[in-house]
Amino acid sequence: MITVLKTTNLNKFYRLGGLVKRVRINALDDVNLSVQSNKPVIISLVGESGSGKTTLAKVILRLVKPTSGSATIYDQVVAGEGAIPSRKEFLSTLQPIFQNPFEAFSAYRTVDSYLQRTANRIGHKSGSGVSAALDEALNSVGLKYADVKGKYPNQFSGGELQRVSIARALIPKPKIIIADEPVSMIDASLRMNIINLFLSLKEDFNTSFLYITHDLATAYYVSDYIAVMYRGTIVEFGNARDILGSPQHPYTQLLLDSIAVTNRKWERKTYKASDIEAKEFQFSGCRFRNRCPYAEAICKEERPPALRQEDGREVYCHFADKTRLAKGEAA
Ligand code: ATP
Ligand code: SF4
Repeated sequence: MITVLKTTNLNKFYRLGGLVKRVRINALDDVNLSVQSNKPVIISLVGESGSGKTTLAKVILRLVKPTSGSATIYDQVVAGEGAIPSRKEFLSTLQPIFQNPFEAFSAYRTVDSYLQRTANRIGHKSGSGVSAALDEALNSVGLKYADVKGKYPNQFSGGELQRVSIARALIPKPKIIIADEPVSMIDASLRMNIINLFLSLKEDFNTSFLYITHDLATAYYVSDYIAVMYRGTIVEFGNARDILGSPQHPYTQLLLDSIAVTNRKWERKTYKASDIEAKEFQFSGCRFRNRCPYAEAICKEERPPALRQEDGREVYCHFADKTRLAKGEAA
């Protein structure tokens, strides 16, 4: 089996605050994930603001260095000790797409110039080679080179421009695309087009996705696997339908309940942890214990290990069975 994604004891610590009130934020705290598959897969990373999702994506994309540990993508170590040194090799393995396509392109440059540069970087030098690579990538996202050529970002809708970003990401033929909130800035009516595009790229181009999202509905629709994060730790990981259909970790249960009741999204984009959040990052036992209805003394003392369940999922809770019982899903 191929290792699509693996993190091994992955840690990333940040320091926040001034000299007087300085706190360490373990944005990734001993994250161990492993997805093995011979087929392309879509893995979703969900959790409220400040859970560490973007940090994990940034580490994998080598935008930030991990404090320790490593990340492997398609059998290649891409971050941490032993990471592949060649940028070209790295780019042919994974590519990013970001939340706001209008920030990904300068307003003063034509979008096809970005695509051309990506094609040049991976070795397409001749005019016809570049055109063929661009044509192929744009066709696969439902666009034509002729419709894109010479146009500036403001001549596209958000949905179209996100398609162009995806086309750019496809040019190096990556094995996996890391997509951080790729549809949250796009009109609700167009979101499913992009999500469906992920599914068709997975089937037709064998591209896997790491999909970072607040939106549990699209995560349920599109994912094969799901990892739920809370304050830098994984709390539940496994088959997406099993987990979102019958969550076992109290935090996953809360997440699904809060979506069902309020349909709210979690907002935040500044690096300023609230006092409660900063405190939870410092907890030595289970970080969810102050919000958990099932917490007992051990939850304060010991970090819950991954308890593997019958269906293969991993639940990081001392009382995984008890929480399942609370949901009335076991005798
Ligand atoms: P969001 O959904 O809001 O993007 P997230 O789950 O992606 O949240 P991260 O952005 O990874 O979470 O942040 C995890 C924690 O690390 C937060 O407490 C955040 O404040 C902190 N953090 C992230 N980046 C930095 C940074 N560059 N400097 C300091 N702290 C940071
Ligand atoms: Fe709740 Fe304890 Fe489980 Fe944490 S380990 S989720 S506090 S029961």
